[in-house]
Amino acid sequence: MMKAIRGDITKLEVDAIVNAANTSLLGGGGVDGAIHRAAGPELLQECRMLNGCKTGEAKVTRGYRLPAKWVVHTPGPVWNGGTKGEAEKLAGCYRNSLKLAAEKGAKSIAFPGISTGIYGYPVEEAAGIAVGTCRHFLEETGNGIEVVFCCFSARDLGVYRRLLG
Ligand code: ADP
Repeated sequence: MMKAIRGDITKLEVDAIVNAANTSLLGGGGVDGAIHRAAGPELLQECRMLNGCKTGEAKVTRGYRLPAKWVVHTPGPVWNGGTKGEAEKLAGCYRNSLKLAAEKGAKSIAFPGISTGIYGYPVEEAAGIAVGTCRHFLEETGNGIEVVFCCFSARDLGVYRRLLG
């Protein structure tokens, strides 16, 4: 099952939330900053032990003071015009995050619009990859995990709602 909602991902009562991290995994702005603020300093402590993460890959920590039990950290690609492998890397973020959450036994997972903020990925294209990759994962694995696309703006929500039909 997949759905789109508008809200603050740090408030969601799901098993896992995804962080649009950077490769250092040591925090940053946007949704990354919001997640670290809400989870508390223990999150950064655990992240320090992970030695970073490559773009398109994912690593998991506990959620500490968040309602979510797990945080899946995945660095999205910086948009560079679309000819630098951005789409494959972004699909990797969604696929690898789902895989890790499923391994933890998560029954629900929420994604922000990875790469669509500071990293400049066009929202329509990014949302198409997000929905397509998650749909493919659910069909291919038969995993019943609930996928929530957590949109920060009304415009983004409209894009996802149209794609989800
Ligand atoms: P990136 O560096 O991957 O582009 P950003 O954090 O700049 O990451 O933006 C990713 C998306 O997360 C954007 O759509 C932004 O509006 C959204 N966002 C920012 N804060 C939150 C939040 N608290 N909950 C959900 N989405 C958020």
